[in-house]
Amino acid sequence: MKKMFINGEWVEASSGETRDIINPYNQEVIATAAEGNEQDTKFAIAAAREAFEHDDWATTPAAERGKIVHKIADLIERDREELAELESLDTGKTVEESLGDMDDIAGVFRYFAEMADKDGGEIIESPIPNSTSKVVHEPVGVCGQITPWNYPLLQASWKLAPALAAGNTLVMKPSEITPLTSIKVFELMAEAGVPAGVVNLVLGPGDSVGAELSANDNVDLISFTGGIHTGKKIMQAASSNVKNLALELGGKNPNIVFADADFETAVDQAMNAVFFHAANLFSGNSSDY
Ligand code: NAD
Repeated sequence: MKKMFINGEWVEASSGETRDIINPYNQEVIATAAEGNEQDTKFAIAAAREAFEHDDWATTPAAERGKIVHKIADLIERDREELAELESLDTGKTVEESLGDMDDIAGVFRYFAEMADKDGGEIIESPIPNSTSKVVHEPVGVCGQITPWNYPLLQASWKLAPALAAGNTLVMKPSEITPLTSIKVFELMAEAGVPAGVVNLVLGPGDSVGAELSANDNVDLISFTGGIHTGKKIMQAASSNVKNLALELGGKNPNIVFADADFETAVDQAMNAVFFHAANLFSGNSSDY
C-alpha cells in the first residue's frame, strides 16, 4: 500500500481509507494508496509548521540546502526509468514523453539547487543620507502545494525544488488520480537527507485535503496548478489568513496565425500542443492526422 509521508514517517490514513490507482490505458488497478482527509492534512501542516519554527532548515546555510537539492536531482537521474514507467502507468502518456519529463525534472532540481546560495539580496539607493536599504529574501514559511494529473511530477518539481532551496517547509497534495511519482520522489527526498517535517505528502481528494490546505491558517502560501474553477475556490479559502498565492490555471489559449506565417506548420504545432499527451503527433505535415 502506498502511504503518506508526514513528519518523516510513512503513514496510513487516520480513517484507514484507501483508493485504487487506475491505469487509464486498460483500467487495471496498479496500486492502492492511503486516502487522507482533513485530519491527516492538519497533522502534516502541524509537522511542517513545527519544522519551520523550531528546526533549522530555514537557517541551514543556503549552500547546504543547495547540496541536498542537487542530491535529489542525482537520485531522480539514478531512478529515471523507474520514475518514467510509473508516470506512464499512472497518466497513460507514452514512456518516451515520461523519460523526457524526468530529464526536465532533474534539471528543475539542479536549477534551483544552483540558485539557493546565489540570492544575496539587493542594495538599493536610499534618499536618506548615510543610510542604505537592502532587500533580503526570506523563506515564506509553510507552503501548501497542489498539483494536477497531467504532468504530475513535472508540476510537483516546479513547486518542491524552489520551496526547498529557499528554506521553506511544505505540504504537498498531488492529484488523487496520479500520485505515484510524487510518492516516489518523497522517498528520494528523504534519501537525499531532507530533514523530517520539512517535506510532507498528503494523499486524497481536493474537497477535503486540498480544501483544508487552502484554508488552514498555519499555511503561509499556496502554489496551485489546475483548473480555473478549483483555483477560484482556493483563492477564496486562502483569504482566511491572506495567504500568498501562486495560481497557474487552465484554459485553451487561442492561436493567432499571421498572414506571413506558414499555415501548415501553424496547424501542426497547434494540434501537437492539444494532443501531445496522446503521443507526440508532430510529423511536420498536418495531413498525417
Ligand atoms: P483540478 O483543478 O480538477 O485539480 C487540480 C488539483 O486540485 C487536484 O490535486 C485536485 O484534487 C485539487 N482540488 C480539487 N478541488 C479542490 C479544492 N476545492 N480545494 C483545493 N484543491 C482542490 O484539475 P485537474 O483535472 O487535475 O488538471 C487539469 C487542469 O489543470 C486543466 O484545467 C489544465 O488546463 C490545468 N493545468 C494548467 C497548467 C498550467 O500550466 N497553467 C498545467 C497543467 C494543468
